[in-house]
Amino acid sequence: MPRLARKNTGMDREQRLRIAIQKTGRLTDHSLDLLSRCGLKYSRGKDQLLCYGENMPLDVLLMRDDDIPDLVQEDVCDLGIVGSNVVREKQLAQDAARTTPGFEVLQELDFGRCRLCIAVPDDFPWAGVGSIAGRRIATTYPNILADWLRSAGITAQIVTLSGAVEIAPRLGRAELICDLVATGGTLAANHLREAATVLECQAVLIRTPVPLSKPKEQWLDRIRLRIDGVQQVKESKYIMLHAPRSALPEIRRLLPGSESPTIIPLEGSPDRVAVHAVCRENVFWETLESLKLAGASALLVLPVEKMLA
Ligand code: ATP
Ligand code: MG
Repeated sequence: MPRLARKNTGMDREQRLRIAIQKTGRLTDHSLDLLSRCGLKYSRGKDQLLCYGENMPLDVLLMRDDDIPDLVQEDVCDLGIVGSNVVREKQLAQDAARTTPGFEVLQELDFGRCRLCIAVPDDFPWAGVGSIAGRRIATTYPNILADWLRSAGITAQIVTLSGAVEIAPRLGRAELICDLVATGGTLAANHLREAATVLECQAVLIRTPVPLSKPKEQWLDRIRLRIDGVQQVKESKYIMLHAPRSALPEIRRLLPGSESPTIIPLEGSPDRVAVHAVCRENVFWETLESLKLAGASALLVLPVEKMLA
């Protein structure tokens, strides 16, 4: 990467933000998509670890997700995108070691949603969380699990594994597991079922606690505003329709999550208006059908691409 080596000088570290994201995994596409939606153009070579931001002073480092908090903590990167489960596990390990947290959670990113849960074999006699007492639980999140057991007042043995937790009961290494679940498909395939939720998780943006140079801090503020904008437009739709004036109260009631709509008189039809509104929730067919029943016609629903409050 001769070009990167040249660009990545000490001077660049003063001027350019560096964000660590997962190299390959469940968060990769969403993280790159978020950065693109924030306006970043970058070139990504096949085995490239550092992508140079071409139109913003923001470079992307592609790493294993477990390493991201450390990279931010050690100030190798200014920012990181990682699951809140990885962040929480790290924070609890730091609490236990009485070291000061080396990163700060800036915001939730509304993707990579999953939950860390206790799962039991299909034939396990589950009768509430009390059933965990005295059992062995396999997990890759020993600190989160220990914290949860402590607050539930349960004593159990934690078996820490580095992966393939779902086969631990079949191998006789543990009776239960504590693992991440999104749809439950992997659990079902391994004859396990979800029994209790330990932690709801999603991707979060973290930053170094080290003060940034002024230009970097200003760019971080801009990027965060853009992330807010991206999140706002995700479900938003722009809806346009025609309606009799008399139907306006009912139509306003039906428009999902919209603030003051724009009402425009229609040339030559004094009793009819055009209504334009940004709906901050998805607009379903049922809503359109109800709007039509209320008197609306010429209904049009458009996606919103960008929004800046
Ligand atoms: P790496 O090689 O980077 O260490 P990994 O195998 O640890 O990857 P992935 O399985 O790609 O990680 O998951 C990354 C993150 O995605 C998880 O830490 C979690 O926050 C989130 N996630 C979302 N859905 C799921 C799911 N169904 N199972 C596991 N993680 C999920
Ligand atoms: Mg990992």
